[in-house]
Amino acid sequence: MFYLTSHFQKNNHWLSLKAAQKRVKEYEQLFDLLSSNNVPGLPWLLSNSKKEGWSIPKTTEKSQLALDGKYHPRNYTEFDNDFTTLMYELVGGAALYALNKAPIMLPSRKTIDASCRELNLRITVGNVKVSDILTNIEALFSDINSGASGAVLNTLWIDEIVGDGRLCYLQDMDKIGGLCKHATSQLKTFKMGSDLTCIEEVVKALRAEDIHVGKEFSVAAFARHAADDYGAKPVLMMPTCKQGTWNSAAQILQKLIQAWKLSPFGEAKHGPLTEIASDGDGKRRPALYLITMPKPLELDNPLFPFLSDLPGLNLYTGEGGITMCFDPKHLFKRLCILLCSVAGIPVKSVIINKTLITQWLEKIPGHDWSDKSIHALLYPKDGQDVSRAIKLLCLVTELHHLDPEDLSLTITHNALSLLGEMLDARCARGAIH
Ligand SMILES: [Zn+2]
Repeated sequence: MFYLTSHFQKNNHWLSLKAAQKRVKEYEQLFDLLSSNNVPGLPWLLSNSKKEGWSIPKTTEKSQLALDGKYHPRNYTEFDNDFTTLMYELVGGAALYALNKAPIMLPSRKTIDASCRELNLRITVGNVKVSDILTNIEALFSDINSGASGAVLNTLWIDEIVGDGRLCYLQDMDKIGGLCKHATSQLKTFKMGSDLTCIEEVVKALRAEDIHVGKEFSVAAFARHAADDYGAKPVLMMPTCKQGTWNSAAQILQKLIQAWKLSPFGEAKHGPLTEIASDGDGKRRPALYLITMPKPLELDNPLFPFLSDLPGLNLYTGEGGITMCFDPKHLFKRLCILLCSVAGIPVKSVIINKTLITQWLEKIPGHDWSDKSIHALLYPKDGQDVSRAIKLLCLVTELHHLDPEDLSLTITHNALSLLGEMLDARCARGAIH
């Protein structure tokens, strides 16, 4: 009996070994094929293999078919389609065709067509026109189904992006596009017409530097605070030479607010505009204060009971409760520019400037305060270095933790502590953003 059991066990082991050896051989064949060939669409082929539970020989067979051009795995993900759309926008149809035929086998133009929309957005030529903004709002917001989320709160974002710095012909309008706003007062028309008069005038004005080719675009976009389709959608694209005034910045913001209110696809469909977000642009800042802080929160505003008893909170808002929202990075940078200046910030009759901060930072224990590191913080080569700005602000917040008994200049320490506490609260708010 023992002999029989032992014999069967030995036989089973032998069979298992044979099966394992066969499997290893199959893996080796697959590995050899994949490592010595560029199998087209390999990631999608392997994904299909896993999803459909193919055996190793079947995976090898499919890989060979893909190599022979007889099998085209096409289970593209959303990422593949998005990536291909981006490639199409950046490098064009010819490059996309090549990438579709290459081993990487990106989706074809036809595949992404289903998820793409050809939008005929209006670029601003000359002055900003409410009619252009209305057209763009309709193009981008009319198809969004607001049924699920209903009316929501909306944000207007505005910032600059770098452009090509060249002019273009806008066929729909028969106009020259890409000139800065100065062209409005210097040129009779932007229409090309049937002769070269317009081009000659543009060239003359450009050479005289009366007008400029916009190297940047001011872009304004609306975004819904909804669970879906919440991406920022650009409704204003305006070439700029960045020489505008704060008045013109305010007028542009007013036109955007007006267009959102007027459009049946704006406030009427998606809800009110409640916030305007911006970078730290020096001309847009005063414009935003003008538009979003003319009056205190109204008594009938539903937020009034919650906010009216909070001392120190700025309750000033714009029409309909619109508030401003600056990118915290720019707020941090601005504060640091002040701290690193000779003029500094006056707090409780103490001028907190770079000289004072240099002396006090040395008192914070646990830091390597070689002259070099303090110098790098307070005399930055790059004023736009956000990480340096945040490091300096965090160190200033540490000043109010210093033991007051060790400090002889208590008036100065009080002022620094107050500033530190304020920055502490502000940094925490910025981090949440
Ligand atoms: Zn200009």
